[in-house]
Amino acid sequence: MKSTISTIKTEDITEIISKLCKHANLYVSQDVYNQLYAAYLKESYMESKNVLWQILENMKIASRTKRPICQDTGFVVVFAEIGQDVRLQGCDFEDAINLGVEKAYTRNKFRYSIVQDPIFERTNTNTNAPAVIHTKIIPGNTIRLSLVIKGCGSENAGVTMMLKPFAGAAEIINSAVEAVRNSARNSCPPVRLGIGIGGTMDYASFLSKKALLEPVRSEEELALSDDKVSRMELEILRRSNELKIGASGFGGDTTVFGVNILSYPTHIAALPVAINFSCHASRYAYVEVFEDQVKYKFQPDYEFGEISSIQENLKNINVEDINAIKNLKKGDRISLSGYIYTARDAAHQKIIETIKNGQELPINIKNKIIYYAGPCPPAENEIIGPAGPTTAFRMDKFTPTLMDMGLLGSIGKGKRNNEVTESIKKNEGVYFVTTGGIACLLSSKIKEAEVVAYPELGAEAIYRMKIEDFPVTVAIDSTGDSF
Ligand code: SF4
Repeated sequence: MKSTISTIKTEDITEIISKLCKHANLYVSQDVYNQLYAAYLKESYMESKNVLWQILENMKIASRTKRPICQDTGFVVVFAEIGQDVRLQGCDFEDAINLGVEKAYTRNKFRYSIVQDPIFERTNTNTNAPAVIHTKIIPGNTIRLSLVIKGCGSENAGVTMMLKPFAGAAEIINSAVEAVRNSARNSCPPVRLGIGIGGTMDYASFLSKKALLEPVRSEEELALSDDKVSRMELEILRRSNELKIGASGFGGDTTVFGVNILSYPTHIAALPVAINFSCHASRYAYVEVFEDQVKYKFQPDYEFGEISSIQENLKNINVEDINAIKNLKKGDRISLSGYIYTARDAAHQKIIETIKNGQELPINIKNKIIYYAGPCPPAENEIIGPAGPTTAFRMDKFTPTLMDMGLLGSIGKGKRNNEVTESIKKNEGVYFVTTGGIACLLSSKIKEAEVVAYPELGAEAIYRMKIEDFPVTVAIDSTGDSF
């Protein structure tokens, strides 16, 4: 039956997108929360259990303070399904979406993460727009909008492969498990996987992102389904978890907490497969827009499970106590206090250029610790916004130079390369890791914060911060021993 024509104003789309962005940044969906909670309950490795506790506690803080779960408030990816009987009234549809993104990120003090020119200047747009927008025309007179907030720790782990046409389920499963083995550690595990199969190379990639909007099913739920795709999802889930990478890569029972596959017809000579990683901060929201009403498909909040603190009484070390830091051993869990600096990709680039040009650095790095972080700007009454670690390996090419100039250590997440390990050994430094995606919890450990260099870099400016009881684990100690 043909539907009647409805008129939807683009100014309403702007407000709706703004609301979706806000909600998705503050809350994961109940199914995601439930899987992470179940992982926490059954985790048998203490390190991983502790990380899962931090992740759940961080979600509670984000919900209470109405601040984003993670400082990487990410790329906004919008899936817009527009009924063919909708008449859009107002500005350009994509402009309306981008304006909604800008409003959400500005009003709520979310971090702007998008650069205009990806190759040369890489200047921040300072709006977090543009979004990546996928539009599809569907029957009916409503608009369905879904969006995913995607941080790049996990986005950078994504892969697209063109398998041989008859590679079949077994090779697809092997490829997915291999991708987890290679990349999960740098993607804030436990992760979930969106897998797109079929279509063309780009369409498989599109499907892999769209799959992240599907409900997450537990191992037990998947085991109850006997369709072939669910069987594949189950096998990928089981085999990935047999890798025992665990939360934050510390070793544990849950590395992957969800697998969703979407497929599409393909060419007789092709089998495209794309694997999209999402970190534990798997953030998305949906809405259906009618002419006279808006149906948000999310709960205003979620139900939290009981979690008891298993935080040990960590030994506290002041960052000025260089001997104590040099005597730490890999795997030691401590808390740090004192003054540190932040710097991430763009600031490192500038620092290295300054060194090459023989100019004086804007900060004295001798015996200092750099935290790889780009916090959200502070909201009212905040010292700093959510401030979790970013992936450290992107700084690997810069670190040996800085360590040779006296840098004592760094705090980040994920693995480092051999050159960094050797440099830490040579200079008797240290590399600490802290849990990615627990940005609200970590920002509560920051007692002072001021921008001291490169303010033009926005979120990537160098901050001087005073931390107190900041939880870290020694990932590479002063002997170069790595865990
Ligand atoms: S949880 Fe980790 S991977 Fe996810 S957005 Fe935050 S920093 Fe990035």
